[in-house]
Amino acid sequence: MITLRQLALATPPAGKADTSETIYQRFEREPECLLIPVVDDQHRPTGLIERNTFLLRLAKQYGRALFAARSVQIIMDTDPLVVEADTAPGDFASLALDGHSGQLLKGFIVVENGRYLGVGAAVDLLRAAATERLETASQLGELTESLKASHLEAERNRHFAEAVIEHIPSLVAVRSSNSGRFLLMNRASESILGVNRETFIGHRIDEIAPSRLMDQLRNADRLISQDAGTGRHRDLAYVRPSDNDHRVLRISQTPVDMPDGESLILTVADDLTDARRAQDRIQHLAHFDLLTALPNRALFQERLEMSLRQVDLARQRGALMDVAVLAVDLDRFKSVNDTLGHNAGDAVLRLVAERMKDVLRSDELASRLGGDEFAVLLCGEDVAETAKTVANRLTSVMSTPLELGDHSVSIGASIGIALYPQDADNAEELLKRADIALYRSKSEGKGVWRRFDATMHAELADRRSLENDLRRAVSNGDFKAHFQPILDLSQGRIVGFEALMRWPHERRGMVPPNDFIPLAEELGLINPMGEWMIRAACDAASLWPQDTSVAVNISAMQFKSPGLVSCIFQALSKSGLAPNRLELEVTETVLIDDEPEVLKCLRQLREIGVSIALDDFGTGFASLSYLQRFPFDKIKIDQSFTRGLPDSRAATSIISAVTALSAKLGLITTAEGVETEAQLQAVSRLGCTQAQGYLIGKATPHPEMLLRSATAGRLAAS
Ligand code: C2E
Ligand code: CA
Ligand code: CA
Repeated sequence: MITLRQLALATPPAGKADTSETIYQRFEREPECLLIPVVDDQHRPTGLIERNTFLLRLAKQYGRALFAARSVQIIMDTDPLVVEADTAPGDFASLALDGHSGQLLKGFIVVENGRYLGVGAAVDLLRAAATERLETASQLGELTESLKASHLEAERNRHFAEAVIEHIPSLVAVRSSNSGRFLLMNRASESILGVNRETFIGHRIDEIAPSRLMDQLRNADRLISQDAGTGRHRDLAYVRPSDNDHRVLRISQTPVDMPDGESLILTVADDLTDARRAQDRIQHLAHFDLLTALPNRALFQERLEMSLRQVDLARQRGALMDVAVLAVDLDRFKSVNDTLGHNAGDAVLRLVAERMKDVLRSDELASRLGGDEFAVLLCGEDVAETAKTVANRLTSVMSTPLELGDHSVSIGASIGIALYPQDADNAEELLKRADIALYRSKSEGKGVWRRFDATMHAELADRRSLENDLRRAVSNGDFKAHFQPILDLSQGRIVGFEALMRWPHERRGMVPPNDFIPLAEELGLINPMGEWMIRAACDAASLWPQDTSVAVNISAMQFKSPGLVSCIFQALSKSGLAPNRLELEVTETVLIDDEPEVLKCLRQLREIGVSIALDDFGTGFASLSYLQRFPFDKIKIDQSFTRGLPDSRAATSIISAVTALSAKLGLITTAEGVETEAQLQAVSRLGCTQAQGYLIGKATPHPEMLLRSATAGRLAAS
C-alpha cells in the first residue's frame, strides 16, 4: 500500500522557492513537477505554487499576445490543503474530494507533527486511494483486474475534466435543453459576465434579474442559438453590469447529447475587449502621429497608393481625375526649436497641424511625415487648380505669427507640388518630385510654393553631387586660403588682407564661396571648414610684417559652436600671431537672435585684442541698430554702395552718413568692391578710412608679393 509519506517524499525535495527565476528554472528543469511548495524559515508550509498557474502568471507578464485579453488569475494559494503523513490516502481523498476538490487538484502539503515533509499531487493521491480500495476489494475477491483499471480511469477523467472547466479562462456554461436551467458555470463566467454564478445556477435565462441583464442574455441567446452546433461563433456587444463597461464577447453554442438521453446546451465565450482595444491602440499608433494626431507617413503612403489606384480606374473609364501631393516644410522651425526649446517646438508643430486642418476640407488629407515635414494629399478632378489654391491658403496661414506664451514667432512654410499622372507614375516618385519642387521654393526665398518641372530634376542631382564632393573635400582638407589686400587711405599702404576661402574642384574648377559656404552651413560642415580657415589665416599672417593684419569671415552658425573661442585662442598661440593682428568679419545675422552666448563670445575675443568688423554693412534690415548692440571696431560698407559711385546721390549720401557716424564712434570704415580710380577717389572723399577691391588687388594665394610690389606704392601715391 502507498502511504501519504511515500507520496510526499516521492516528489522532488522542497526547496525554498523565493525568486520567480528559480521557480521558473525548476518548472523548466522538471517537466513532471506540477507544484512547488513554499515554506517558511521553520520549514512550515505556507503555500503552493502550481505549475500552470505560475506559467499563466508569467504569460500574463510576458505573453499578452499569447493569451490575448483573457484575464489570467493569479492563483497563489492562501489556504493550501495540509495533511498529516499518517492519514490513510483513501480517508484523505474522500475528505478532500468532499468540498475541497478544487484545492486538491492543485496538490497538497504533507506534514509530520505539523512540520513540512513534502507535497503530493492529486493524481497520485487518487491513484493511491483507489489502489488502497482495490487492494481491500481484491482481498475480498469482489473485483476483477480490468474493473480496477476502468474505475481508476473514470475517476481520473472526471476530476481532470472538472479542473479544466473550472480553470479555463473562457466562459463555460451548461444548461439543460429541456428545462432551460443552468446546471454549471465556471469561474471565468463570473469575471466575464460580471455576475456571480449563483444568479444563474438553477435558473432559466428569463428568470434572471436584473431585467437589463436578462434582456442582454436573451438577445445573445437568440442570436447564437441560430449557429448552435455549426462550430461558428458570433462577436456580440455586452454591457457588463458590475462596471457598465462595454465589452465584446465571442460566443458559440454546442448541443451535447448525454449517454443517459439528457440533452444539454454548452455555451463557451471569450472576452475579446482588451485584445480589441489593444489592437485598436496599436492600429492608431501605427497610423497617427502622437504629437499632432495627424495621420503619419505610413497612413499617408497607404492613402496615396489608394488614391493612385482610384485615379487609374477613373481614367480607364474616361474620367479625368488626378492626385496632387503637396510637400510642406516649415521655414524657421529649427531656429524656434533651437532658441525656445523643444516644448515650444512641439507647441509650434501642434498649432501648425491645427492650422492645416482648418484650411483643408474633410476629403483633403494632411499628414505629418516627420520633424517639420508635412504633406497634403488631394484627389479628384482638376486637382492642379485645387492644389494651387490650397498651397496659397497654406502659405498665407503659415505666415501669420503664432502666439507661444510670451513669444510671437513667425514660422512660414514652403511648399512643393507634384501631380499624378502628369509628373510621376508611382507614389514614391510623386513624393520625391514634390520634394524637389519644395527644395526649389526654399531656395527661391521660402514662404512660397512651386510646382514640379523637369528642369528641377537635373538641378537637384547636381546639388546632391556637390554635397558629396563637399563632404569629401572637408575630410581631405581640399580648401585653399586666398588673401585680398586692404588699403589704408590715410597711410597709403596695405595694412592687411581678408582671407577668402577657395575650393579647387577637379571638374568644376575653382568653386566660388557663394556656391559652397551656404551649402556647408546647411550641411553642418561650416565648423570644421571655418576652423581650418582660422588656423590657415593665422599661420599665413604670422609670416607677414608686424604692421599687417588678417581678417577672417566667421559665419553666424560658427558662433553656435562652443569650440569657436578656444579654436581662435589655439590658432593664435600656435602661430604666434599677436591677437591685435587678427580681425573677425561677422554679418548682422550673428546678432539677430540676440543670444547672450554670442555676445559673450564676441566680448571675450575683443578683450584679448582681436578686432570685430561688421561685414556687408547696408545689405541687412536694421544695420544702424546693430551698432548699438555691440562695440564693433570696423564697418565694411557693402560693395553695392561702392558700385554706385561716384554718380549715385543715394550711395553718396548713405556712405557719408555712415562715415560721419563711424568717425563719432571712433570706428574704421572700409569700402568694399572698389574697382575704379574714380570710386577710390570718391570713397576717400566721403571719409572712408580703408578701401578694398579689384583695383587694389584681387584675392591671391601669395599676398607677400603685393606687399613688396609697386601696386601699393602707386596707389598710395594717388
Ligand atoms: P565677402 O566677405 O563680402 O567677401 C568679399 C567678396 O567680394 C569676395 O568674394 C571677393 O572676392 C569679392 N570682391 C572683392 N573685391 C571685389 C571687387 O572689386 N569687385 C567685385 N565684384 N567683387 C569683389 P568671394 O571670395 O567670392 O567671397 C564671397 C563671400 O564668401 C564672402 O563675401 C564671404 O561672405 C564668403 N566667404 C569667403 N570666405 C569665407 C570663409 O572663409 N568663411 C566664411 N564663413 N565665409 C567666407
Ligand atoms: Ca568679408
Ligand atoms: Ca563683405
